[in-house]
Amino acid sequence: MNLDFTKTNGLIPVIIQDYYSLKVLMLGYMNAEAYEKTVTEKIVTFYSRSRKKLWTKGETSGNFLTVQEISTDCDQDTVLISVTAAGPTCHTGSQSCFQSQPNSKGFLYELEKTISEKIDTNAPNSYTNLLYRSGMNKIAQKVGEEAVELVIEAKDTNAALFKNEAADLLYHFLILLKAKAFRLEDIESILQDRNQ
Ligand code: AMP
Ligand code: ZN
Ligand code: ZN
Ligand code: ZN
Repeated sequence: MNLDFTKTNGLIPVIIQDYYSLKVLMLGYMNAEAYEKTVTEKIVTFYSRSRKKLWTKGETSGNFLTVQEISTDCDQDTVLISVTAAGPTCHTGSQSCFQSQPNSKGFLYELEKTISEKIDTNAPNSYTNLLYRSGMNKIAQKVGEEAVELVIEAKDTNAALFKNEAADLLYHFLILLKAKAFRLEDIESILQDRNQ
């Protein structure tokens, strides 16, 4: 990639975007050295304008940003990096420095994340976490039950009941995916491939 560092005193603005949610996580700057290091190590290193030295994001917090994809804008003076984040990206503890962005991949991805958090934090009084801990058989069985309930409502004319069972099925389906250690994205990409 032939970047133009000349326009901006040797520093290029770099937009960091979450690979999964597509949310903007932060904006930083890179000089040529930081960029080379980032490309080589596949871990994001900025140039800190305040400290005037290279700054590997996560060097003290452990919240490193792993590079998934790098692209540039139309005139090669701005970089967009898609990353997977090891933890909160903002030093305030927020996932992103830009708060309250909608999940641009849709609410199902937001729900997937909520489900994941309930389970990963072993949340007390959470039905999601409780079901998860009751084991694969119970979870899979629950998906089956919700599917059957949806089939039953499909034969009826009550729209509200049908929609509620459809929602139940999607929700339990997401818990099953989590239990199988798959992501919604894994399933989505299969559908995408079939849609060529
Ligand atoms: P870290 O790179 O996460 O180990 O954090 C090291 C230091 O960099 C923190 O103490 C903050 O001063 C600063 N810092 C970390 N993350 C950000 C961020 N997203 N935006 C601005 N400054 C940050
Ligand atoms: Zn540009
Ligand atoms: Zn921040
Ligand atoms: Zn149901």
